[in-house]
Amino acid sequence: MDMINTDDPPNDLRVLAMRPLIAGNWKMNTLRADASALAAGLVEQRAAIDPGCDILICPPFVSIRSVGEIVLGSPIKLGAQDCHVEVSGAHTGDVSAEMLVDAGCNFVIVGHSERRTNHGEGDKLVGEKAKAAFIQSLSAIICVGESLDERNEGKTLAVVEEQVSKSVPAEATAENTIVAYEPVWAIGTGLTPTIEQISEVHDNIRSLLNSRFKDGEEFRLLYGGSMNPGNAGEILAIKNVNGGLVGGASLKVEDFWSICTSV
Ligand code: PEP
Repeated sequence: MDMINTDDPPNDLRVLAMRPLIAGNWKMNTLRADASALAAGLVEQRAAIDPGCDILICPPFVSIRSVGEIVLGSPIKLGAQDCHVEVSGAHTGDVSAEMLVDAGCNFVIVGHSERRTNHGEGDKLVGEKAKAAFIQSLSAIICVGESLDERNEGKTLAVVEEQVSKSVPAEATAENTIVAYEPVWAIGTGLTPTIEQISEVHDNIRSLLNSRFKDGEEFRLLYGGSMNPGNAGEILAIKNVNGGLVGGASLKVEDFWSICTSV
């Protein structure tokens, strides 16, 4: 009988073993007390049940330490919503990847559409932020997604392809990188693409990663944009959707937990 070498399992077994990730992006919400209560509620739920997915929460910078103390020792992971490309220096208002690690983070979101739109961040900068994260052994969640005009003009796949090629650095691996497809028009709007539309983009991202990386099949691909307890099950069942990036619905324990248990 053939023995499976567990140190180096075949690709299909590694993909089967891929654990979905549900990530909460709290954005600029929660004062410290709310953040602590939200984190404590999730720790309590997770202590009772393993929903079969990894769970990540990304609070505002100022709550990272206090939330970190609450999730410490639990399987809930801690991340931030952005980082600067430099380690330190004259960058008023910015936070480096090294500082995030020092504060207890293992993940950082880069290239969220709100950073791209509100702060003029482009693909090159997003790629540099991801590299800055890798250097500090942080995993980067790299966000991509088309605007409504781009979708209506039939440019979705071209836009996402360009963003993935330019924002996902050559140094990316399935260990240090997660790609989140977040159509801009679906973020915070209550609108979601159809299952076919999500599937088409995720399959496309998978092909792009496979063409560039030998472990492309193992990168986790998250869907984000108005995911909620009502639509999560159907979205998370799509092939090549390996989890979700959740904004609004991550701010209530019951809603976020319900999404986690939909996996
Ligand atoms: C997000 O900001 O990453 C997001 C997906 O937001 P929402 O779930 O509120 O659409």
